[in-house]
Amino acid sequence: MELMYKSTRGSSELLTASEAIIKGIAGDGGLYIPVKIPKIAVPLQELMDFSYVQLANYILKEFLTDFSKEEISECTHKAYGNNFDLEEVVEVCKAGEEFFLELYHGPTLAFKDMALSLLPHLLKTALRKHKITKEIVILTATSGDTGKAALEGFKNVEKTKIIVFYPEKGVSEVQKRQMITQEGDNTYVTSIEGNFDDAQNGVKEIFNDSEYKEFLEENNYILSSANSINIGRLVPQIVYYFYAYLNMLKRKEIESNEQINVVVPTGNFGNILAAFYAKEMGLPINKFICASNENNVLYDFIKTGVYDKHREFKITASPSMDILVSSNLERLNYYLSKENEETILGFMKELSLDGKYEITEGMKEGLKDFYGGFATDEETLQSIKEVYEEFNYVIDTHTAVAHSVYKKYKEHSLDKTKTIIVSTASPFKFTRSVCSSLLIDTENLDDFELIDELSRKTGLKVPASIDNLKNKEVIYKGVCNKESMKKVVNEFLKV
Ligand SMILES: *Cc1c(COP(=O)(O)O)cnc(C)c1O
Repeated sequence: MELMYKSTRGSSELLTASEAIIKGIAGDGGLYIPVKIPKIAVPLQELMDFSYVQLANYILKEFLTDFSKEEISECTHKAYGNNFDLEEVVEVCKAGEEFFLELYHGPTLAFKDMALSLLPHLLKTALRKHKITKEIVILTATSGDTGKAALEGFKNVEKTKIIVFYPEKGVSEVQKRQMITQEGDNTYVTSIEGNFDDAQNGVKEIFNDSEYKEFLEENNYILSSANSINIGRLVPQIVYYFYAYLNMLKRKEIESNEQINVVVPTGNFGNILAAFYAKEMGLPINKFICASNENNVLYDFIKTGVYDKHREFKITASPSMDILVSSNLERLNYYLSKENEETILGFMKELSLDGKYEITEGMKEGLKDFYGGFATDEETLQSIKEVYEEFNYVIDTHTAVAHSVYKKYKEHSLDKTKTIIVSTASPFKFTRSVCSSLLIDTENLDDFELIDELSRKTGLKVPASIDNLKNKEVIYKGVCNKESMKKVVNEFLKV
């Protein structure tokens, strides 16, 4: 039977998976969710010997029921086949008592590759399925990692164009260089004045502008999103939670049905929401530990049930988590409210009018599986140092936020449940902070020289994709502001 998708905000449209992937965001501004979360129908042990790609095929098929098995398998092979520097795509590394799930072995060295290597292929397949001849235009606001991962994923994929807006403030030198040197005949990159929320709000406004969307459609373009609100990004992220669990089972680190905790360094709430879906599908997860940096709006939310975006935006050492409005939280709230669309619509109105909302007492009860914590930059850097000194294992700043929060959780809960720390970026992507934590002298060295220093000190090999970055030609030098975003789009599309 076909699994249909609907909006969190209650409009009555029902879409197939491929339609939801093409549209990205619902007409009423809500996010698409499956009308029912599928359950894994077999005992988990039966999936234990699946390769990553096999497991991805299995889980994707549950959600994307209007795709054929062949279509899904073609997409996953293109996405994960040889783009990743590990045969098995991801790796579970044990350091002391902790398990780090390394999701950064893709082309851009951050976990966004897990979904964004796949999304363009799902989208292209969906277009073919519906015999759509218009071109898809992807607009993306990025706090650093999404932009590059989307550019790499969509580069030269026919029938698509991609425009990335990155905030002038808050992306690392390496992240910036990765984007402004982007190749591909269908790509465009510009910086935008302000921070990530300004960029994201600008993109959201364009998406909510139905007149403008019609204008583009008349010119043969369909707007779509690669941000983590697209269901085609959420579903691929469920896979690695199963993979990690099965891997621990196989290594006899856990027993059948043993519960685990997951610690997720969180920004837009996409990655941790995928863990929530995994649990709903039948993965034995005990606690979702939601780790924030000093932009700790989620920490406050989990503690109090109040979401309040009015606060100072801080630029931290973990820039991909510098976010004040976590879009995917809307989906969690939908489930916490027992699928009450009117409640969600109300919250989202309050959020846009007053910048805050408070969930109901019943919903707060549902948050008990979540623990929220945050780490300051100082604690983050301290964590990198500790993990290196204790285990000779190097983690990046985002993973270090997770590690630091986990340490607090353990101290305060005395919970001994085996725990997976989700490792979202390569330490080579945030070299300045990582190097200074490891007491490498960073003065007078640029981020690119630091890459070599880090490699020398730790013996880790420099990943191929950034080895040559410094010498690549800079293609994009433009800056725009929120008011001129449409103009930028029009010029690129020549409309
Ligand atoms: C995007 C990102 C995050 C946050 O993930 P969300 O799904 O937005 O919560 C964490 N770490 C890194 C390195 C990222 O790129």
